[in-house]
Amino acid sequence: MEFLRLGPKGYVAEIFSSFQGEGPYVGRRQIFVRFAGCNLNCVYCDTPYAKEHTKLCSIEFHSGERREVKNPLSVTQVADSVRRLLTPDVHSVSFTGGEPLLQDAFVVAVAKSLRERGLSTYLETNGFSAERLSNVIKLFDFAAIDVKLREHLPSDEGYENLYENELKCVRIAIESGVETIVKVVVLGKGDLGDVKKLCEDISEFATAAPNFYFVIQPVTSPNGIKLSASDLYGFSEAAGEFFKDRVMAIPQVHKLLKAP
Ligand code: SF4
Repeated sequence: MEFLRLGPKGYVAEIFSSFQGEGPYVGRRQIFVRFAGCNLNCVYCDTPYAKEHTKLCSIEFHSGERREVKNPLSVTQVADSVRRLLTPDVHSVSFTGGEPLLQDAFVVAVAKSLRERGLSTYLETNGFSAERLSNVIKLFDFAAIDVKLREHLPSDEGYENLYENELKCVRIAIESGVETIVKVVVLGKGDLGDVKKLCEDISEFATAAPNFYFVIQPVTSPNGIKLSASDLYGFSEAAGEFFKDRVMAIPQVHKLLKAP
């Protein structure tokens, strides 16, 4: 599917308030802007409804009620929707997906608008384009890069290029000085070799970086995780060889909180 690089308007699947469920900011209140459209097809994807350009965007109001608004949305519509959801405990606005950087010009416009309103910005990307990340990174306070392992995708086609871009994205984020979170989903013990390779591949620029976290995320269902604690120790220790105590093993906590 071909996705357009939209400017002042963009496709958004939903805007809502919840808790961050992944990584070092787990449990922090965020307002989520979930951009519609994705270029990947991960086997564990839990937001399939955000993989296409949806005709409607579901917007939450402070009361918890949701209304559907026609896509594409303007920057003002997104910024006003975020403003209406602000509560005193909000940590930042998460740009999530789908894949936000498929609409990088729109991401730039929304991020600028939110920052002008004094809000912190948190980008979640699959790292498919180092070029697009470098165009937006200065507008973000946090960058979470979700590095895919080969077996996360239904086919090998284009994997080398994706992985190369993901590594470059990690480097760009670290070198730009934003807090950088590398997240890798693990499906089972068999992923250990690939996780070690990833750690080695980013160690040259990540090991000494002051604002860097490496997150091992066991694939999570509403019933919890299948991986045992001893398997997770194995992943954590392997990553710890490179990143010491900046390694974290965290399931998707929002599913346990029964939050969206
Ligand atoms: S990158 Fe994210 S939204 Fe896209 S298919 Fe993978 S998990 Fe789903």
